[in-house]
Amino acid sequence: MKVFKLKRTFAAVILVGGAMTAFAQQMPPIPTDPNVRIGKLENGLTYYIRHNELPDNQADFYIAQKVGSILEEDNQRGLAHFLEHMCFNGTTHFPDNLLREYLETIGVKFGANLNAYTSVDETVYNISNVPVIRDGIVDSCLLILHDWANDLTLAPKEIDKERGVIHEEWRTRTGAMMRMYEKVFPAMYKDSKYAYRLPIGTMEVIDNFPYQALRDYYEKWYRPDQQGIVVVGDINVDSIEAKIKKMFSPIEMPANAAERTYFPVPDNDEPIITVAKDKEQQVPIVYLFHKHDVVPNDQKNNMGYLVMNYMVSSIESMLNSRLNELTQQANPPFIEAGVQDGDYLVAKTKGAFAAFAAAKEDGIILTTETLMREIERVRQFGFTASEYARAKADYLRGLESAYNERNKQRNASYVNEYVRHFIDNEPIPGIENEYAIMNQIVPNIPVEAVNQVMKQLITEKNIVLSVFCPEKDGMKYPTEAELKAVIDKVKAEKLTAYVDKVSDEPLMKEKPQAGKVVKTEQGVFGSTILTLSNGVRVILKPTDFKADEVRMQAFSPGGTSLFNDKDVLQFALISQIASLGGLGNFNSVDLDKVLAGKMASASAMVNTYSEGLSGSCSPKDLETMLQLTYLRFTAPRMDQEAFTSFITRNKAALANQEADPMTAFSDSINVALYNRHPRALSMKADMLDKIDYNKVMELYKNRFADASDFTFILVGNVDAKTATPLIEQYLGALPATKRNEKFRDTGMAIRKGHFENNFVKELETPKATVLMVYSGDCKYDLKNNLQMSMLGQLLNMVYLRTVREDAGGTYGVSCNGSLSKYPTEKGAFQVYFDTDPNRREEMVKLINEGIQEFIEKGPVSEDLSKVKEYMLKTYKQNQKENGYWMNILNRYYWENLDMNTGYEATVNAISGDDLKAFAKTFFGQKNEVEVSMSSPVQK
Ligand SMILES: [Zn+2]
Repeated sequence: MKVFKLKRTFAAVILVGGAMTAFAQQMPPIPTDPNVRIGKLENGLTYYIRHNELPDNQADFYIAQKVGSILEEDNQRGLAHFLEHMCFNGTTHFPDNLLREYLETIGVKFGANLNAYTSVDETVYNISNVPVIRDGIVDSCLLILHDWANDLTLAPKEIDKERGVIHEEWRTRTGAMMRMYEKVFPAMYKDSKYAYRLPIGTMEVIDNFPYQALRDYYEKWYRPDQQGIVVVGDINVDSIEAKIKKMFSPIEMPANAAERTYFPVPDNDEPIITVAKDKEQQVPIVYLFHKHDVVPNDQKNNMGYLVMNYMVSSIESMLNSRLNELTQQANPPFIEAGVQDGDYLVAKTKGAFAAFAAAKEDGIILTTETLMREIERVRQFGFTASEYARAKADYLRGLESAYNERNKQRNASYVNEYVRHFIDNEPIPGIENEYAIMNQIVPNIPVEAVNQVMKQLITEKNIVLSVFCPEKDGMKYPTEAELKAVIDKVKAEKLTAYVDKVSDEPLMKEKPQAGKVVKTEQGVFGSTILTLSNGVRVILKPTDFKADEVRMQAFSPGGTSLFNDKDVLQFALISQIASLGGLGNFNSVDLDKVLAGKMASASAMVNTYSEGLSGSCSPKDLETMLQLTYLRFTAPRMDQEAFTSFITRNKAALANQEADPMTAFSDSINVALYNRHPRALSMKADMLDKIDYNKVMELYKNRFADASDFTFILVGNVDAKTATPLIEQYLGALPATKRNEKFRDTGMAIRKGHFENNFVKELETPKATVLMVYSGDCKYDLKNNLQMSMLGQLLNMVYLRTVREDAGGTYGVSCNGSLSKYPTEKGAFQVYFDTDPNRREEMVKLINEGIQEFIEKGPVSEDLSKVKEYMLKTYKQNQKENGYWMNILNRYYWENLDMNTGYEATVNAISGDDLKAFAKTFFGQKNEVEVSMSSPVQK
C-alpha cells in the first residue's frame, strides 16, 4: 500500500490549481462501495459480505486477524505462526483432521483452496472456491471460521506432531537472505520490536515451548475486536448476515483484553548502514531506503489519499523507466534495479521509498552511488512533462480497463480489497466510484505536483542503506564509512537534469502489402478458422468472459530441434537475445515509450519443437498487437549496446553462481536426467562470451522467415468482422516461402534404468533436498492425461499423511506428473522435498513405499473421490476462462488432442483399479532417477 503523511498530501494537491485547491480543502470523503454489506457485532467482530457470480455457484470465506508475530513475547517467538498451523489440526466441531477431510469431499483442496498465512502484523485464513450448492456447505464453512476464531483444540499430541513440520518449514525457508535479515534487522530496526519478530521464530521455541504458551497467545489475541470475516460469492447476503449474527454473537470479548499495540520504528538522523555476508549469497544486493511516516488509518478515507497514491505510483513507474534505461547501457551500473514505495520492509508503522538493486561483485559502491544519484536527480529536477504524459496515459488506460471489467471481477479480488480495508483501512470505493473520481482528478494533476511529492518523499534524514554480500575469498567489502561517504558525495554533486528522448514516429510508418482470407471454416469449440493467402491459419474464438482482453498464441513446427547440436550455446538464450534490440526503428527503451497508453504485447519464442508467439491486448489495441507481431517476424532489431549489456549483466549474475547450492543441485539433475547430452546445457559465466550475436539473430530469422506453416489462435473479446481486415493487413502480409517443415527428434530424452546421485555438500543451514524422477512410455490421450494428473494429486495426499504429518519429516512433498506428445509419447513423474539430512534415507523409503502401495492396492477410495470433486469443480470454473480455452485450442491444433470433450465423463469413469493399472504400467518400466544434495550427516 502506498502510504504517506497526510498533511503533506494537501501541500501537494494545493499546487494543482484553483479547482483542485477548493476540492482538496473540502476534503470530500471517499465513498464506500454500496455493493458490500459491512457490519460490526456488539462483541466487536467485523464482517463484509458481497454477492458476486464469478465464478458462479462458488464463494470464498475468509477470516482476517489483526495480529501476528509482532505481538509475541520473547519466549513466544514463532507461536503466531505455529498457531496458524494448529487451525488445521483439530477444532471443537471438526476434531483431528476432520476440517480438511470435510472440505476436500466437496472439492476444496488443501493448499490450493484452503490455506493461511502469518505475517508480522496480520494472520489471514481462507477457504476459497467453495461450491455453495447446498445450505449445509455455507453453514459448515461459517462454523469453521467460528472455530478458528474461538474454538481451537490445541491438543498436546497434535502440537508435538506439528513441531517437526514447522522445523522443516524453517529449514525450507532459510536461505542466504533470511540468515542475513536475522543478522541486520537489529540495526535496521534499532530500538524497535520489529528487530526480532520474523514470523518463523526461533527453533528453540518451536521445539520446546510448553503447550500452555500457545494457548495463552491464542486466548490473548484471537478475539472479536481483532477479527474480520469476509464472505464473497454466489450467496444471499441477508441470509449470510443473519447466520453470522447468530453464530458469532455468542463469542465473548474477554474482560480486560490487552491493548493491541502498534510498535513504532524510530526515525534516524544519521544514515543507518549495514553490511551482511553469507556464503550462499550469489550476487550483492543493495537496499536503499528513505523512510517516511505512514498515513494514520483514520485519515485514509478522503480523496487526498487516493490522489497521493496515484502520484506515488507515477513516481515509481517513471523512476523505474529511468533505471531500466541505465540497465541497457553496454556497461551498466547494476545487474538490475527498481524502486517501490510501501512499508519499510516488515514494519507497517513506517513507510519507505525503497530502491533495490543487484550489483556486480566489484560494483557495490557504483550501484549505491547510481541509485542515490538517480533519486537525487529526480528530487532536484523532477520528471519531464513527456515522461509524465506517458505514465499518466498508462495509469488512465489501466483504470479504464478495470472499469471495463467492472462486472467481471472475481471473488478473490473483492476479498482482497475487504481484507485490506479491515486490516489497514484502505479505501474501498468500488471501481465505478474510483473511475469517476480519478478520471476527474488525474487529468488535472500536473507534473509539478508530482515533482513536489518526490521532494517530500526524499528527505535528508531517515536513510537506511543495507548491503547483502556473498561471503568469499578475495571479495572486497565496502565499509560502513565508505558507504556513508557515497551518500555524502552524491549529495554534494552538481547534477544535471534528465533528458527524455522522444520521437513522434509511429510504430509502423507504412502498412505492409495486405493478404486475403482465402478460406473460412468452422473450427472446434465455436471457433472459426481463417486461412490467409500466404498460408497462415488463424483460429478465432470470441468469448464474453472479459471485456478488455484478447489473447494470442502462435506456433509452427520446427523450433531449436532443427538447429545443429554444436550450436547449442547460440540458441540456448535465443528468445531473450532476439528481443534485446527492440523492433523496427525502436530500441527496447523507445519501444516502451511508443507503447505508452496502449495495452498490447507480442513476444516471440523458439521452443524445442516449435517457434511461436504469445501476446495479449485490449480489443481497441488489436492493431498494435498485430503490428508488433508483424515486426517480430520482419524487423527484429539488432542493438550491439543492448547485447553487450545483456552479456555483462548475465556474466555478473553467474560469476558466483556456485555459491548458491541450488546450482550444484540443478547441474547434477541435468547430468542425471540427460546423461551429458550436448543440448542439456548448464549455462556458466565463461560460456557467455562465446555467444555470437549475429549467429543468434541468423537462427532466429531463419525460424521466422516463413509464416506459411504458422497457426495463430485468438481468444477473447475479438469480433471476426472487425478483426478480419486487420488480420489480413498484418498476418496476411507475413512472409511466406511455403517451405514444409517438421521438427525432428534431437535424441535428448530422460535416461532409462535406475540412476542415483546422492551427494554431500556443506550447507549453511543443514538440509537435504531430494528429487526423484520416474519416466517411461505412455500413450498420449485424454484418459492418460487425467490419470497422470490424478496420480500426482493422490500421491501428494499420501505423502501429506505419511512424510509430513506422521513422520514430521518435511514441510511438503510435491508430486507432479505430466505427459508429452512430442517427439514420442512419454510420461514423467517427479517427487521433490526437503528434509533433515539425518532422515533423508528414511523419507526416501517412505516415498518408495507410497508408490509401491499404490501399485499394489490403488488409491484410497475417499482420496480418489476428493480428487474427482476438485477436478470437476475446476473444470466447471474453467469454462469461463480465456486462458483455459487458449490451452484447449492450442492442444487441439498443435497436439491433435481434445482435452475438453468428455472430460467430466472420463473423470467420473476412472476407477481405483484403472489408476492401479496405470501406475503399475508406468512405474513398472523401472526408469528412476534419484538425485539428492545433503549436508553431512551428524552421527
Ligand atoms: Zn507455515
